[in-house]
Amino acid sequence: MRILRNTFKLKSFRSNQLEAINATLSGHDVFVLMPTGGGKSLCYQLPALCTSGMTRGITIVISPLKALMSDQVFHLQGLGVDVVSYSGDNDMSTNSTTNSRLRSSTKPAILYTTPEKLKHSQIAQSILRQLWETKQLARFVVDEAHCISSWGRQFRQTYQDLDQLRVDYPGVPIMALTATAKKVVINDIITKLGMTGCVSLTSPFNRPNLQYRVVPKPSAKTFLSEMSTWIHRNHPNESGVIYCFSRNNCEQVARELREKHGLKTDFYHAGMSVPEKEGAQSAWQRGDVHIIVATVAFGMGIDKANVRFVIHHTLPKDLDGYYQETGRAGRDGKPADCLMYYTFADVKKLEKLIDKDDLESSVPPSREEKARQKEQLHEVMRYASNITDCRRCYVLGYFGEKFDRRQCRNGCDNCVENQGSIEEDMTEAAINII
Ligand code: ADP
Ligand code: MG
Ligand code: ZN
Repeated sequence: MRILRNTFKLKSFRSNQLEAINATLSGHDVFVLMPTGGGKSLCYQLPALCTSGMTRGITIVISPLKALMSDQVFHLQGLGVDVVSYSGDNDMSTNSTTNSRLRSSTKPAILYTTPEKLKHSQIAQSILRQLWETKQLARFVVDEAHCISSWGRQFRQTYQDLDQLRVDYPGVPIMALTATAKKVVINDIITKLGMTGCVSLTSPFNRPNLQYRVVPKPSAKTFLSEMSTWIHRNHPNESGVIYCFSRNNCEQVARELREKHGLKTDFYHAGMSVPEKEGAQSAWQRGDVHIIVATVAFGMGIDKANVRFVIHHTLPKDLDGYYQETGRAGRDGKPADCLMYYTFADVKKLEKLIDKDDLESSVPPSREEKARQKEQLHEVMRYASNITDCRRCYVLGYFGEKFDRRQCRNGCDNCVENQGSIEEDMTEAAINII
């Protein structure tokens, strides 16, 4: 509590944070499943600063993205935490400062690294080995742990190699964190990391303040003007994200909304340079730009509380993506809209893309992988074309969470539309009970 208040300047723990912290401090392997924005970082940043008894030593945090890493390092440094980092393309001088800090007698509390660095740097390996031999490794933290699973949508080859952590450094507790709730992915994480007697902490996934809605996608001629009318009417001058299908799409939609419809937009996709991306993101973060039009490249680790709407210009490839992307809205707990424009033509378009071999990827997806991607896409199609079932129940059900439809409280279009029949269902249920 003292560290929470004095260092992190926070008043109280959110659900499962203290449980995760206590479990790792007592030496358990810990698996943390929390929705995006739930506060996973604190679960490992805080115990890293509890240096007494058996928890002496450095916390090694493995993170998939350089941008995520530098955000966190910057934030922690601002709080006065002694933290160092390795990143793939750090210049030599920064890495050598990091190395000498790790070898010195006054060691930092936290080391952030990418899996690539762990795998390829001999120096990093020998430093870790020495820390292990002198019992100065407090724990390994695998953030965004779903990247380890080929069932996940953000699979990373080098994350696979983290199965060596337990083998190479036996006895060092592992903490794995993710926002991906799919059972196969979770099992994959726990098995691959060799986590044993693992304490699992999972938080409820329902986001009561998000309003889900799917509408038929208008013809190309009127689409953007209808979309902009909706935005002007419901969210004037408020922050939002529009997820698009392709890079070109993003640029064109952002331009048209800005030039023809008077909205303050910018775009974001993986084809941009790092400074371009950072520029767009920070303008949006500050509120100078209201709407960011993006591909799925935009989002992981983004922390903006007052996003009032997320629009899917094209349906997402899977429900995991849908949940993650819509989950960026309303983190401040105030009402926010999730609007998806749906047309069967987009399903066809995405199917074609799955069939086409991606020239950029070194290993083209197998037939099974393609079949799996199509099944995922069809799940989104069923979600979107369903006009009776509660959308919230559907999404949460996909993650294996049972949800009572009455708790949706008109939080989705289908519940609003079918209000009468739900009440009937309820009387029927009541009669059955009596
Ligand atoms: P995640 O990694 O789960 O997506 P983060 O760790 O990035 O989420 O945290 C999201 C936001 O929540 C951050 O701004 C963080 O400061 C805030 N936060 C985390 N824990 C608490 C807490 N106990 N009280 C208040 N804010 C918190
Ligand atoms: Mg995080
Ligand atoms: Zn509903």
